[in-house]
Amino acid sequence: MSKDHPDGYLKHEREPIHKRDPEQRKGDFEEIWEQKWDEDHLRSQGERCMSCGTPACMSGCPIGNIIPDWNDLVYRGDWKRALERLHATNNFPEFTGYNCPAPCENTCTLKYNDDPVTIKSIERAIVDRGWEEGWIEPDPPEERTDKEIAIVGSGPAGLAAAQQLNRVGHHVTVYERDEHPGGLMRYGIPHAKFSKQKVDRRIDQLRQEGITFECGVEVGEDIPAEKLDEEYDAACIAVGAQKPIDIPIDGRDLDGIHFAMEYLPRANPGQSGGAAVPETMDAEGKSVVVLGGGDTGADCVGTAHRQGATQVVQIELLPKPPEERPPGNQWPDQPQTYEKSYSQEEGGVEEYCVQTQGFLDADGDGTVDELRAHRVEWDQNEDGEWESTIIEEGMRVEAEMVLIAAGFEGPESTPFESLGLEMTDDGTFETEDHQTSVDGIFATGDANSGPSLIVWAIGDGRDAARHIDEYLMGETDLPASLETPNEMVVSQR
Ligand SMILES: Cc1cc2nc3c(=O)[nH]c(=O)nc-3n(C[C@H](O)[C@H](O)[C@H](O)COP(=O)(O)OP(=O)(O)OC[C@H]3O[C@@H](n4cnc5c(N)ncnc54)[C@H](O)[C@@H]3O)c2cc1C
Repeated sequence: MSKDHPDGYLKHEREPIHKRDPEQRKGDFEEIWEQKWDEDHLRSQGERCMSCGTPACMSGCPIGNIIPDWNDLVYRGDWKRALERLHATNNFPEFTGYNCPAPCENTCTLKYNDDPVTIKSIERAIVDRGWEEGWIEPDPPEERTDKEIAIVGSGPAGLAAAQQLNRVGHHVTVYERDEHPGGLMRYGIPHAKFSKQKVDRRIDQLRQEGITFECGVEVGEDIPAEKLDEEYDAACIAVGAQKPIDIPIDGRDLDGIHFAMEYLPRANPGQSGGAAVPETMDAEGKSVVVLGGGDTGADCVGTAHRQGATQVVQIELLPKPPEERPPGNQWPDQPQTYEKSYSQEEGGVEEYCVQTQGFLDADGDGTVDELRAHRVEWDQNEDGEWESTIIEEGMRVEAEMVLIAAGFEGPESTPFESLGLEMTDDGTFETEDHQTSVDGIFATGDANSGPSLIVWAIGDGRDAARHIDEYLMGETDLPASLETPNEMVVSQR
């Protein structure tokens, strides 16, 4: 790849594809992103890429996206080849182009002392264009093997594994307990962050490629887990890690207190397929407390605002991260700094260093009214461990609805115990090269690694597919997720 734009970053400022105005967007459930983007704008952003000899951006990308190549192709206006290059390492670039926290931008060389390339916006633009132009089409295999594979779970990991394995000719059936496929892409991430039509069109592509989806089927409940072992040549468990971490304090059993994943799919019209929102999941006119400062908490804040909450307070036990990188946290490490989420841009109160104590039902109607908490400060002890000390007791926060977003601790159910699968201390499946302790049964995604990101799930699904193909055929042509193809790869494999 020639390198005739080493000074593009001197000519153009970083300018990503913007979000809609916060005041406007929080009044509806539509996507927060500007829908339209300008080709010349994106080309100049691609020109900012220096095509570094050692592309540090790629070391930040868990799936080894060949970022400088598609930045350059966009700069040259060769969008179709940019799409091929993107699909060479990522089955679903729109899943990441819209939702990834973009660790690649943090390792971009420019970030050392300047604004990084807008890699995420460029990725989104390439794949948007691909769909608009009709370049993304079903790519079924020319020949089929006689191997039958079951995938359990249809989140990004299960879908990536399914597509890879189907494209090398195996017969793939995906079992999904929910009504529709997509996992957290459909039922966790709000429509405002990622429209569900974008999930549907990928599922359509996978169906047309020959993958069978069996939805509304919970393996271990509706069909025995043994079926995986007995009726398939290989199986892959991609059930995610959706078991929520609870906050078992006084008053936890009061009405009006919900886990984030009980709330989000019911409260967002896009996710519930337009079904009426149950009164208990409606934040309209209520003061809402969200417990947990991560992505899931942010999505609860955004959804409660859209429903018409009178006040939303997001509470985090840990301190607010610093605005500047702390000592020892220098480029190219991921910055441990404060970043406002899209929903915090829209309003609400952020409270840090708050330790919850109990929920109170002041009027005795069985529903939560108030949260009691202590304010704490954090210090490191002699061993360097962080310890909290109470600095203010008896903090009270009005709370007519409480959403618990304190994280996830592993796969929810273990219907696979009957198969004798070993688990790690973290509650994920014990695996080696993705194979569990039972021959022919593999695991991938959050179920394998613990709660993570979409980009990791896609990469892990691709890796699992490679190991499964090798297990079945004795060899494989499927790439490892961090394996960079040497030549232009024209299929989406
Ligand atoms: C609210 C929320 C917001 C997030 N936002 C982001 C974000 O902005 N960016 C980002 O990168 N990551 C985000 N994440 C994380 C990301 O969604 C996950 O890391 C990713 O979806 C994991 O993919 P997966 O395929 O391993 O599992 P999942 O997406 O969890 O899919 C697992 C699937 O398995 C199914 N299943 C479970 N048990 C069974 C069974 N016994 N039989 C049949 N089916 C079963 C489930 O119904 C589910 O569909 C978010 C997570 C949450 C909860």
